[in-house]
Amino acid sequence: MRHFTRSIVWSGFVLASTAPFSSAAPFYGDPPDETHPWAIHDDNRPQPARVEPGTFSSQEKPGQPPSDAVVLFDGTADSLKNWASDKSPDQPTKWVVVDGTFQCVPGSGYTRTKAEWGDCQLHVEWSAPSKVEGNSQGRGNSGIFPMGKVEVQVLDNYNNPTYADGFAGSVYGVNPPMANPLQAPGAWQVYDIVFRRPLFKDGTMLDSGYLTVFVNGVLVQDHTPIEGGGGHMRRSYDKAFPDKGPLQLQDHGNPVRYRNIWYRPLPARAIEGGDVSHMSPEATKAKRESLAASLRADAARQQGSMKMLKLMESLVYASDAAALAGSTKMSAAFFASVKDLSADKLEAQKDEIRRVWSALRYCSSKKILAAALPEEALLGDLIEKAGWNEKKH
Ligand code: MG
Repeated sequence: MRHFTRSIVWSGFVLASTAPFSSAAPFYGDPPDETHPWAIHDDNRPQPARVEPGTFSSQEKPGQPPSDAVVLFDGTADSLKNWASDKSPDQPTKWVVVDGTFQCVPGSGYTRTKAEWGDCQLHVEWSAPSKVEGNSQGRGNSGIFPMGKVEVQVLDNYNNPTYADGFAGSVYGVNPPMANPLQAPGAWQVYDIVFRRPLFKDGTMLDSGYLTVFVNGVLVQDHTPIEGGGGHMRRSYDKAFPDKGPLQLQDHGNPVRYRNIWYRPLPARAIEGGDVSHMSPEATKAKRESLAASLRADAARQQGSMKMLKLMESLVYASDAAALAGSTKMSAAFFASVKDLSADKLEAQKDEIRRVWSALRYCSSKKILAAALPEEALLGDLIEKAGWNEKKH
């Protein structure tokens, strides 16, 4: 409440810091904290990578994968080079390409990718034989195993009950799907899967691993804990997975067909050092110091008020005695350089003066500075006298 009077004075005005959605607008949203290295609406935060979106599939035609997808099967015989026999990974897959689909040859064994990876967004389309044979687990059974470790069930459950934790879209032996949105056998069914592997460190579980699954666009697994990967008849328990493994497709004795198989690797979680919203205090501190160092280096290349503003911006991320002393000194010099200007020269520096004042005000109100610098009030008076305040609408 140090500036109670001033805050009343200013409360009726739109401040420079409210310039919304402008580019390069530091001193704007709430500053970083112990577990968030960036400020709210921080322009120093990296832009999302551009990905050209794909297209949705129809029954007649598979869609296009997004531009950064790793394509595992695109309907061509050439795609077979991505696959191997699961039992003998140095041998080619015994599954076959039929009419642009990747078909299980019953009795040939599981197939697996030659590539290995870990966390991913995975897209798979499959179709059960249109000639209905068998029931329960015996009808159109196959399976999708991220890393070869946990089965997302593939099964023709269209008018075909079975045990719930073995249903199409189940994490097999762990959790049933929340719904049964399957189409009739012979139709293409679309699975979109988000897979996060379990994470352990020194024998302690950091993250149980999760599966999120959409079947034909319907959410059936919502961040379901993997619980060790499940299995047939036996309860499984949390356990570590390796960093990467192949994608397996199951031969369960039915000629299930697949098409349009691709994945996108996912970035690291915060718990393994990823740059996501909520980070560990240690990782946050390191990131803030790195951002501050980069801004100080930028300041060294700048002149005048921009140099001061970059130094002050660095203080938003990490304290630094030299940066504080430098920006304090430059703040005084800046005010000295503008305080006696003629009205027209002052007008020419209107935006710069407002920018500096706004930064000073931000740094005191957000406790970036232990105490407000005198130039905050001095520049505030100057702005008021110049009539540069804008009334709120
Ligand atoms: Mg299966």
